[in-house]
Amino acid sequence: EADQRPRRVTILGATGSIGQSTLDVIARHPDRFCAYALTAFSRMDVLATSAAASNAAVVVVPDDDASARFAQQWASVGAGKPIPEIRVGAQALADTAADAETDVVMAAIVGAAGLPGALAAAAAGKRVLLANKEALVVAGGLFMETARRYGAELLPIDSEHNAIFQCLPQRSDALAGEGVPATVRRLILTASGGPFRERAIDTLRDVTPDEACAHPNWSMGRKISVDSATMLNKGLEVIEAHWLFGVPADRISVLIHPQSAVHSMVEYEDGSTLAQLGQPDMRTPIAYGLGFPERIESGVGLLDLAKLGRLDFQEPDLTRFPGLRLAFDALAAGQGACIALNAANEVAVDAFLQGKLRFTDIPAVIEEVLAQVDAVDTAGTPTLDALLAADARMRALAEQFAARRPRTP
Ligand code: NAD
Ligand code: MG
Repeated sequence: EADQRPRRVTILGATGSIGQSTLDVIARHPDRFCAYALTAFSRMDVLATSAAASNAAVVVVPDDDASARFAQQWASVGAGKPIPEIRVGAQALADTAADAETDVVMAAIVGAAGLPGALAAAAAGKRVLLANKEALVVAGGLFMETARRYGAELLPIDSEHNAIFQCLPQRSDALAGEGVPATVRRLILTASGGPFRERAIDTLRDVTPDEACAHPNWSMGRKISVDSATMLNKGLEVIEAHWLFGVPADRISVLIHPQSAVHSMVEYEDGSTLAQLGQPDMRTPIAYGLGFPERIESGVGLLDLAKLGRLDFQEPDLTRFPGLRLAFDALAAGQGACIALNAANEVAVDAFLQGKLRFTDIPAVIEEVLAQVDAVDTAGTPTLDALLAADARMRALAEQFAARRPRTP
């Protein structure tokens, strides 16, 4: 309606790839959306520029040092505008996600570090645009139960899950994760196969961080880019789909599709397969989440299928991509194993990006940690503290295993 004020958006992880794309979409619709709060862990220059451009009222930074750096940056890019309120620390971030001044929260922090903020937004009954898939891998049951109990409007932003959501009958309960209709036979997640889909397997041990981050179709943050190269990303997405849509692992499959035009598919009982197609640009799912149930302009051009010419599909090769198999194993084993999978992967990817671990040792470290997994109490829904404690234990183990596999030239 014309007289409605713009919806106020908080972006957790505003300086990242998803955060910046979200700001781009919001800026196209000043009548519908405005930025309320932006959070960032580093890159205070980008945070200051983004806050100035979007007129955000609040920024959230990790510590006093970052706060001082933000103020310093503001002096040069603030264009004489009043400086935003600066809030400091992880608790302030979670409080901001639940702030009465915000309507919509984009959860776009990378890794399990994003869980407390995303969960706070769900517990405050916000519209939650969930990009942070690791939050569901670490805390799927707790997160979905919280979203349902407090009436959060949960919209998947990960392109595959957004595609699946678009291929489901539009029902308000699908938002809160009441599951898919019984007539859904299978969810099919497409995967590009990353930069190493065809590289000789015996050369994978020597790949460099820059090679792993050079994704053929998508431009993304470095952690998810490495995850795409190992295909652990698709494994995390299988777990994410399980929780979001309430579908068991044996009805979720993965299909390699190098063109990244079909973003995922839903197979129905009657033999119909529905797909969502589009350019590989995250502004499409972001605009869908912001505008739902309406569609709004995203800045993304239309898909030119004639120019693309062909769409290819093939089964994933689990020898080339052992991370995918490990994720299915973890999902079958339960919540503790999913926490271990994610923690070990975050530690191993970080070590790889720092040049301390070989690419092929990423799944090796995950496998070692999975073998040590301790059971998280699954009687009832575990608390956030219990999940974070398990995450911390698994990280410590992963650090040990990674240190025993140094990258030597
Ligand atoms: P990115 O690395 O580009 O950005 C991450 C953001 O999180 C930054 O703003 C950073 O400051 C913040 N951050 C990092 N560590 C933090 C911490 N410990 N505490 C608080 N904030 C922290 O990542 P991205 O590519 O934008 O991905 C964000 C999330 O979205 C990930 O979970 C990723 O899997 C998911 N996702 C991304 C894409 C994509 O195209 N980039 C697609 C689908 C899903
Ligand atoms: Mg994805």
